[in-house]
Order: sequence, then C-alpha cells, then structure tokens
Amino acid sequence: MQKSVLITITCILLNAAFLLTGCKTGRNNFYTKDDFQKVKKTDIHFHYNTFNPRYLELADSLNFMLVSPNVDAGMPIDEQLEIAAALKREHPDKFAFLGTFSVNNFGSRNFAGKVNARIDQCMKAGASGIKIWKNIGMVLKDSAGSYIMADNPAFEPVFRYMETDRIPVMAHLGEPKNCWLPVNEMTLGNDRGYYKSHPQYHMYLHPEAPSYNDQLDARDNLLQKYPSMKVVGAHLGSMEWSVDEIARRLDRFPNFDVEISGRIGHLQYQALTERGKVRSFMIKYQDRIMYGTDLTLNETDGQFTTGTDELRELWYEQWLFLATDSVISVNDLDGQKVKGLQLPRKAIDKIYQRNAEKFLKINRN
Ligand SMILES: [Zn+2]
Repeated sequence: MQKSVLITITCILLNAAFLLTGCKTGRNNFYTKDDFQKVKKTDIHFHYNTFNPRYLELADSLNFMLVSPNVDAGMPIDEQLEIAAALKREHPDKFAFLGTFSVNNFGSRNFAGKVNARIDQCMKAGASGIKIWKNIGMVLKDSAGSYIMADNPAFEPVFRYMETDRIPVMAHLGEPKNCWLPVNEMTLGNDRGYYKSHPQYHMYLHPEAPSYNDQLDARDNLLQKYPSMKVVGAHLGSMEWSVDEIARRLDRFPNFDVEISGRIGHLQYQALTERGKVRSFMIKYQDRIMYGTDLTLNETDGQFTTGTDELRELWYEQWLFLATDSVISVNDLDGQKVKGLQLPRKAIDKIYQRNAEKFLKINRN
C-alpha cells in the first residue's frame, strides 16, 4: 500500500516536472526583449569605412559580427579594401567583408580579365565574397550610350569565374519599386527622403533609363544562367514591396537568398495589414533570409556619422520586430504602430546568424 502511494506520488511529481518542462519549452520557443544581447547575431550589410575598431567592439559586446560589403561608390575601392583587410586580419571573429570591383574600364581590352584579377586580389586579402552594385543597370553605359545590365555578355567571364570558384556574390541590383514612382506615391518616409536628395537615382525622373522590371529581369537572367553561383539579393532583392514576389524568386532559383538590410520598413509596411502573411513568409523561407542593416560608418575628425546609442537602438528595435510580439511605432511609417512578428527561435537563429555564416563560409567561435 505504502509502496503504491509512493509510486503515485512519484508519478505526480514526474508529471509536474513534465508539465513544467513542457511549459518551459513552450515559453522558450520564442526569444524575449532581454535575449537581444546574448543571442549570436550577424549584420551582413554594414559598411565599416574606418580603421577604428570602436564600433566593432560595441557590436561584439552585443554579440554582433559585422560583414562589410565594399561598394563601387563613395570611398575609393582600394581604400575600402585596405580597411576591410586590416580589420579582418585583426578581428577575424568579429568582422568579415565582401570585396568589389570597379566598372570604370568597361569596354576596354581585357575588361573581364582585369575584373577577375581584382576579385582574386580581394579573396586573397580575406574577402568572404564579392559585392556587385546598382551602378550596373542604372549608371553604367556603353560608348553608344546604352545602359549596361548585369546580364550583359561582357560580364560573362566574371560570373563564370565566381560560379566555378564558388565565390559568394551579394547583388544589389535595381532599387525599391518606389524609385520608379513620384515622391508623393512612395510608401515609406525613408524612400521619399532618399530620392529627394538623390534625384540622379530617382528613376521616375529618368524615363529613358531601364524600368523596374528590366532590372529584375537582368538579375533573374543571371540567376538562371549561372545556377551554381550563390547569390544573396541585397535589400530583399529589390522586391521589398511584396513578400509574394520574393517567394516566387526563391522558389524559382535555389541559388538565390535575400537579405533584409535597409528594407525592414517595407516588411513592417506589409505587416500593418498582413502580419500573418509576412510572418508565414519569414518562417517558410527561414533558411534563405539573412539579417542586415545597411548602416554606414565613416569617421571624420574623430566623429562618427552614426552614434553609439542610435546604432544600438536600431539593432534593438529591429530585434523587437523580428523576435518578439512587441508593438513598436515605426518612424519610417509616420509613427504607425506595428506588432512584432515573433518568429520562432530556430528561425531567428538562422536569419540572424547561421544563414550568413553558411553562405559566407565563416566559422565563428
Ligand atoms: Zn549598402
């Protein structure tokens, strides 16, 4: 009798323990606000244009590794490479970078050969991949004045080389769809501000230039033509306005992933009315999406253009939106409130870290 009572009590205790574990598992399915700092994260799109490691230390204190894509614009690309190579040598567990090449000599003899030599130089300097930029498709013209798109045959040896050598490519091709709209029809404050101050890139003002669809078609042709080339589409592959559009491309091209940098506002815009749909998209494609911000750090006279608090706040707010169900008010949407997507831990770990590490073949301790 006593024995059976004991067994019953043990069972009750075991059950209680199981229930507790069960509850714990349920609760632990999601991260909280407080997990922000401790979870390992990678910002795959962070322009780090200074030798000063100050922000690398800040990022590291928040468990962020930074990936700096060199870009064929702004600071000379040799200088960008010099900075990135030095940071990578000194902080290999906190920093990685993507090299790039110039298209200034497009049309000259052995253009592709020179580009490939540059790619080699970047990879030898420690690059984890190569970034190509929207100047291909939106700025670059041939001697007859025609725009050169990314699928132009002149680039064939370059992409073939990256495909054969398994060099990951970050492609910022095209622009947000808003770029082809008048300012007052743009969905986000950020886009309105950017195109007002960069009219040269505001394609609504340049109807002679290739259309939005021309840009996407050129990119899709690349993905089709080089099926073994691993490509991450920067800024949601310029399809930021519709998760359906992105899903279609991810389904069609197994060699294509996307990163969300600079376009999280567009996900928030869609989440205002279709939160469930955006959330399902992020969960379904959790192996193909990477986190990034597209912040730029320049240092002039010891002053950083991005403040420490501003940086920490931005990363934290985006964490709240992706990892929790907090209601946040979005500046870019004129202060409208949106509920966080509260993606499961597993998806957060992939989007924030694993996918980038796998894509760039980074082994972080
Ligand atoms: Zn960028």
